[in-house]
Amino acid sequence: MSFPFDNSYARLGTGFSVRQAPVPVSAPHLIALNRPLAAELGLTLGSDDQMAQVFSGNALPEGAQPIAQAYAGHQFGGFSPQLGDGRAVLLGEVVDIKGRRRDIQLKGSGPTPFSRNGDGRAWLGPVLREYLVSEAMHAMGIPTTRALAAVSTGDAVYRQQGALPGAVLTRVAASHLRVGTFQFFAARQNLAALRQIYEYARDRHYPQAQTPGDLLRSIIQRQAALVAEWLGIGFIHGVMNTDNTSLAGETIDYGPCAFMDVWHPQTVYSSIDRHGRYAYDNQANVIVWNMAQLASALVPLMDDQDSAIDEFTQAINAMPAMIEAEWLRVFGAKIGLSAPTDEDRSLIDDLLALMQTAGVDFTNTFRNLPQSPADLAKAAGFEKWNVRWQARLSHEEDWRARMEAVNPAFIPRNHRVEEAIKAGVDGDFAPFRRLLDVLSRPYIDQPEAADLALPPQPHEVVRETFCGT
Ligand code: AMP
Ligand code: MG
Repeated sequence: MSFPFDNSYARLGTGFSVRQAPVPVSAPHLIALNRPLAAELGLTLGSDDQMAQVFSGNALPEGAQPIAQAYAGHQFGGFSPQLGDGRAVLLGEVVDIKGRRRDIQLKGSGPTPFSRNGDGRAWLGPVLREYLVSEAMHAMGIPTTRALAAVSTGDAVYRQQGALPGAVLTRVAASHLRVGTFQFFAARQNLAALRQIYEYARDRHYPQAQTPGDLLRSIIQRQAALVAEWLGIGFIHGVMNTDNTSLAGETIDYGPCAFMDVWHPQTVYSSIDRHGRYAYDNQANVIVWNMAQLASALVPLMDDQDSAIDEFTQAINAMPAMIEAEWLRVFGAKIGLSAPTDEDRSLIDDLLALMQTAGVDFTNTFRNLPQSPADLAKAAGFEKWNVRWQARLSHEEDWRARMEAVNPAFIPRNHRVEEAIKAGVDGDFAPFRRLLDVLSRPYIDQPEAADLALPPQPHEVVRETFCGT
């Protein structure tokens, strides 16, 4: 096997990461391999056994320089000056066939100097969940890290539930630079390192940025669009800490994430999110807060800090309106509108209010809206709304196709993901593979997979997700 590594992050030198080889596992077995992604990355693959060795960390491909990256972060609002890769190592970077630099990281690869009290491992459940959800997000057209491979390790991992099968996920990202990466150096008042990581991030992701302010505004723009995309598909990240907020604007860290079934804007799944900090509709507020933390970390780079604070404050204050605009674009398209205006907002809001009263499934309601889905149609006020909508649509062309291209028929429904994990723990990966395959075509009706489009039966509803990853 050979990977065309070119490891720019490792070249930054000490202080940004520590050398850390993956810790070998007992009996690696390849569960899943993303061949199209491997081809895009320009990797030469080997036999299943060789791949199990490499993607478990037992064997290193030539040119790999495994490191654990340093970062800090605000977790649920409280600052931790030192987090870092506690259960992951970056094998290295490749420049893919389209010329994009991509990180290849093993997650669940054993303890590192940043592990604190953790075991450095992952169990099969979160590995399968991240594989399914990140690939589904990609297929839906939402910026995200990708899943390249999953292996089982043959070792047990101990969590609250008891002994569980261990696994390793190979994750591919535009980079693993996070808001928390800047915070790490800002918190240490290490200006030289902060400047170095700023220049690195700028050159890698925003080469057109001339100043830290430009960089901040570019990241704000990407994050505003990203969160609006999440809202559009009912995605709840669950742990939007600043260490889980990518500078490249990708969705990263699929821990207790979930998809809303019935429309309710305050939905929370994560068992540790007691106050709903990361509830569905609070994500738009939290991302602004996270960007304010990024701004704070950039201030020391500026010669005139008072005027920098004014400039950055303006950028942060402009973000809510930017998210609003992205939201209107996303939800406008969901009801077929090509250029939604502020006046269209009430049409969308009124639909969502009807959906909330009727307690209907978020995903299927939008997918089936042109057919007036029965559970929504019985809501008082739907007919009136529908007349307004039809009148508005009479000014649109191709609205059906527009709706079909943004309203998925298939999302990784929580109960289906749980079902795939349960079967996987029992050694049966057929449900995982079937779900993965169907989710690779989310906007195409697939009658043979109609069961995977159904909302959960009452006894199947997932009400809580866990961070015990
Ligand atoms: P997360 O909530 O997954 O973003 O992780 C937050 C921090 O905890 C990161 O520094 C992780 O590396 C670390 N961490 C999470 N799980 C483990 C584990 N099992 N062993 C060591 N470190 C962990
Ligand atoms: Mg994380």
